[in-house]
Amino acid sequence: MTKIVMIGGGVCGLAGAMMLARDGHNVTVLERDNGPVPQSAAGAWDEWSREGVKQFRQPHYLQPGGWAVLKAALPDVGAALEASGGTRFDALCMMPPSIVDRAPRPGDERFVTTTARRPVLEHVLGQAAQSEPGLEMRRGVVVEGLTTQWRDGEVHVTGVRLRSGQELAADLVVDAMGRRSNLPRWLCAAGAPPMHEEAADSGFIYYSRFFRSSDGRLPALRAPIFASFGTFGVVTLPGDSGTWSVTVPISRGDQALKGLRHVRGWSSVVAACPLQAHWLEGEPITRVLAMGGVIDRYRRMVVDGRPVATGIVPLADAWACTNPSLGRGMSFGLRHAEMLRDVVRKHVDQPYEFAQRWDAVTEEQLTPWYRETVDENRDGLRQLEAARNGTNGQHADASPSALRAALLTAMPHDPDLFRMFLDSRCCITPLNEALASSAVVERVLEVAQGRGRVPLPGPSREQVLGLLN
Ligand SMILES: Cc1cc2nc3c(=O)[nH]c(=O)nc-3n(C[C@H](O)[C@H](O)[C@H](O)COP(=O)(O)OP(=O)(O)OC[C@H]3O[C@@H](n4cnc5c(N)ncnc54)[C@H](O)[C@@H]3O)c2cc1C
Repeated sequence: MTKIVMIGGGVCGLAGAMMLARDGHNVTVLERDNGPVPQSAAGAWDEWSREGVKQFRQPHYLQPGGWAVLKAALPDVGAALEASGGTRFDALCMMPPSIVDRAPRPGDERFVTTTARRPVLEHVLGQAAQSEPGLEMRRGVVVEGLTTQWRDGEVHVTGVRLRSGQELAADLVVDAMGRRSNLPRWLCAAGAPPMHEEAADSGFIYYSRFFRSSDGRLPALRAPIFASFGTFGVVTLPGDSGTWSVTVPISRGDQALKGLRHVRGWSSVVAACPLQAHWLEGEPITRVLAMGGVIDRYRRMVVDGRPVATGIVPLADAWACTNPSLGRGMSFGLRHAEMLRDVVRKHVDQPYEFAQRWDAVTEEQLTPWYRETVDENRDGLRQLEAARNGTNGQHADASPSALRAALLTAMPHDPDLFRMFLDSRCCITPLNEALASSAVVERVLEVAQGRGRVPLPGPSREQVLGLLN
């Protein structure tokens, strides 16, 4: 039986630990935050303190791609999420009225998800993990470093060192410490060469507020859940048990809009968006929550063809994290967890091959998603800045950005292109993969030709500035 230590009991650490335990491994999850998992979903939202996850009470939406992994790999957890008030949401309901052929198609069920507020989702996972056979959950345990030895010229991780001074041996250590993972520093301290790392501030700030309805129903969706209005956006996300969130993202550099942190200004801006204003008609259950300084970061442990260390792998956000505008992090992480289970099945007894294989499958299946998400976010930021500066943020060439812009113009007029767009938005198939087909590109350009993007009704920048003053 393989002994696996998972450092970090967030969404993806817990899901990965359960998948590994169900494969017969002996798994210990070490989570720095103390305290028991609340008994109820309501308690999770009201009382759970999770200092280790800064975004714990920020809006989280589980994309259909992530839901599909959860449902397939941990069906009882999926059922528990539904039973805990998770909201079933079919992304196809965002089909624009301009699409004439609205007939359902085989496979359309892939656009359906069940989503919940982050504390509720983690409560469901946490409850399941603590009664999972083969899984030991230890909360209030801080890992401070690694135990290592040299093996065939490489640093090999043999376990972890806890703040208490105790050491815990493992055949495999998984870093699920999230976006603030210390792994590069720990490996350097052990004498390993540096990991490859790319990181940059994503440049967005988010102003979010949660609401609850009196009858358990959600506001009607009259626009895409991610809507753009020149220098700001409005994101309306279903939660669970009749709750939802409304987020206004802006560029970090846009000082004039920072008055959005005050309830009055924030509310008047959302109220000025005719297709979203009714999302304010509920009982507010938070103040306006601001979050900035969110980085895009990608790490790779294989450098120049060799792993910098063996016996440890980064999972989910500890591997790569992105600005959350597209709501993809948990879906990437859940898929990564499923991939980890599969690689462990074949290679766990050969640490060097394991490290190589983990890198290869991550590069093949997830890095394209990471790159595309970062590119799309940079396009989004460029467009916010261009709208502020009165310049044209669009690309007129044949770059991926220009093709994505053409697809946004074309997809409200073509049911296939709309589904292709949703496949990417829902974390099912990356856009670049779909746009690798020349026939698809031709179709996109043909439908986009002579058409422009129809802007959603909303306030001009001058009106927004007036509302914030
Ligand atoms: C503002 C914001 C909004 C987001 N919205 C969405 C969304 O809508 N949809 C979506 O899919 N994703 C979203 N994400 C991304 C999502 O939050 C992450 O992808 C997800 O939390 C990753 O899970 P994880 O388990 O890898 O890490 P985390 O959830 O960050 O968990 C890491 C855990 O490790 C523990 N830990 C850290 N160091 C140690 C240590 N030394 N010893 C022991 N334990 C340790 C921490 O306490 C924590 O519990 C959002 C992110 C942000 C910042």
